Amino acid sequence: MKKMIGIVLILCLLCGSLPMASAAGGIVIDGTWSVLLPEAPTAYEAYAAETLRRGLTEALGVEIPTVSAAENRYIAVGSASRADVSEVADNGYRITAMDGNIHIAGTAQRGLQAGAHRFLEEYCGRKVYTQDIIICPKTDRITVPFDADVVYEPFFEYTDTDWNSPRDAAYSMANGLNGGPYRTLGPEMGGTVDYIGSFCHTMGGLCETWKYTESHPEYLALHDGVRTADQPCLTNPEVLRICTENVLKLLAEQHDPTAPLQIVSVTQNDNYACCECESCVAFENEHGGKHSATVLNFVNQVADAVKAAGYDNVAIDTFAYTYSQAAPENIVPRDNVIVRLCSIFCCFAHPFDAKCNREFMQDLADWSEICDRLYVWDYATNYSHTVAVFPNFNVIQKNMQILYEHNVRGVYVEGNYYVDRCDTEFSELRAYMISKCLQDPYCDLDSEVEGFLKAYYGPGGEAVGKILDIYSAHAGSFDGTLSIYYGSWASMRPMTAVTVALTDALWKRAKKDAKGAYLEHLERSELSWRWWKASAAMGEFSYLSPCRGDEKEKLFEDLKKAGVTMLHEGCVEDYAAFDRDLIRYAMPDEWSIDDRNAEHVQKRIRLEKLIEKMPLFAVVGYIFNLIHS
Ligand SMILES: [Zn+2]
Ligand SMILES: [Zn+2]
Repeated sequence: MKKMIGIVLILCLLCGSLPMASAAGGIVIDGTWSVLLPEAPTAYEAYAAETLRRGLTEALGVEIPTVSAAENRYIAVGSASRADVSEVADNGYRITAMDGNIHIAGTAQRGLQAGAHRFLEEYCGRKVYTQDIIICPKTDRITVPFDADVVYEPFFEYTDTDWNSPRDAAYSMANGLNGGPYRTLGPEMGGTVDYIGSFCHTMGGLCETWKYTESHPEYLALHDGVRTADQPCLTNPEVLRICTENVLKLLAEQHDPTAPLQIVSVTQNDNYACCECESCVAFENEHGGKHSATVLNFVNQVADAVKAAGYDNVAIDTFAYTYSQAAPENIVPRDNVIVRLCSIFCCFAHPFDAKCNREFMQDLADWSEICDRLYVWDYATNYSHTVAVFPNFNVIQKNMQILYEHNVRGVYVEGNYYVDRCDTEFSELRAYMISKCLQDPYCDLDSEVEGFLKAYYGPGGEAVGKILDIYSAHAGSFDGTLSIYYGSWASMRPMTAVTVALTDALWKRAKKDAKGAYLEHLERSELSWRWWKASAAMGEFSYLSPCRGDEKEKLFEDLKKAGVTMLHEGCVEDYAAFDRDLIRYAMPDEWSIDDRNAEHVQKRIRLEKLIEKMPLFAVVGYIFNLIHS
């Protein structure tokens, strides 16, 4: 029954009573219209009306008033409207034409706001592509079909991603992002679906493992024969008591009884040290031999205590991640437990239902079977070499559809959350694509991308679209797979010199006559291409290129100018420590602080110095690279 988006045609019986501002083809909204609110609107209704009023004023170039009474030519909002939302799911909306006027109503906390944004997008062409690039075509008349009846129900209850613009409240509202922790939406905006306390990897902290290394080593995980504070032992009743007390303490401090949903994360730490003590192993063996059994059993008990304490609007969230990814047998999550399945091991050159992702699909199907509140933590960045191209563009939409079709109710797509330290790729484009697919996995994404490219890159956007097609066609390493931890050169299969030249020509065409922000965006996104070429020794970075070393130095300088201080996750570079030999002779993948002093890097520097001096070696290097790739 669910999720119909689009214009549902209903017979229009209203032609006889149309107001003056009507015309063949639809209801015409012009500067004489107003936004109709109830006499005593809630802050939430007032905010939605103001969103609408401002959008209309901007589009029409005439100040549109908000009124509490009008006979005609109005867009009624919230309880002033007569749109029937009694059958619409929570946080959905209905935009309907009635008596020649427009009625917008929403459900639960966020529906009305979303409806106001949808009206502006659908009928005024208003697009919030980034927090700074908002397109609102000017017109003297907005036409809405006489029989317009748009119904929307959210596909996911929790939607979140990061990068830059998704942290902005207005962008999030327009593009349907509602999850914490990357944004805060006030109550008038419908509020955020918030995590109380930390967002992830909280178990060690909640169980205070660090405290008991001496006094109670049995509270800690027994891993490889050693007790370690990296994870707790999840079958120890005292550990459960400590964790539960800390969760209840968090709730006592931060619980909001008016929020529709608050989440406390009880998630394993980010390591592989699961407990292998006798009791944990015995429990897991009774449940299919899966590590997720002890995790789920532990979290279920915390969730029971939270429910018993009267926190009806709180859910306890846990991970199905690395060692706990596969679902257990003979145990199911409580109804106030959220399981967040993580796609960390997936291939992103292909969608989740491709052969290379069959394990994840099995886990998704298994969890989907037993969990009524399944969330997914997805990924969309190369964390090992973040400057590089991460060509996952062709899987974003299909993956969101697959998640939705497996009853996933919340999705967080982890992008490059350190974008302020490394923004060289397609951060805003990917954030927009993901937001739109979370809002509606079946949206016309091609058209959204086309609009984005034009708005963000200017006239060069068309060429960027062709470049993205080339990247997508080459996504993945030799074996065709693409992980979030690949080497830079491995993110795209080897390209012929002709394809590289063609891509170079497209970048050149995109930048031709580009100025200002367009040029800045193009040059920034091109950094990832230059980095890939340098890593793959192609184009101007080829062994046969006499300016190979100079180009690497130039790339390095341009990265610095672009504010890049983190080449891979969790590692801040100190540029003062870079020496010229490293930049000129090592591969960019080796520039990072972790690698630069390694013996193989020093060897390469020595070798490349030789190559630079002796053209014959350059030819050998070129042939070697050709064979190697
Ligand atoms: Zn144990
Ligand atoms: Zn694959």
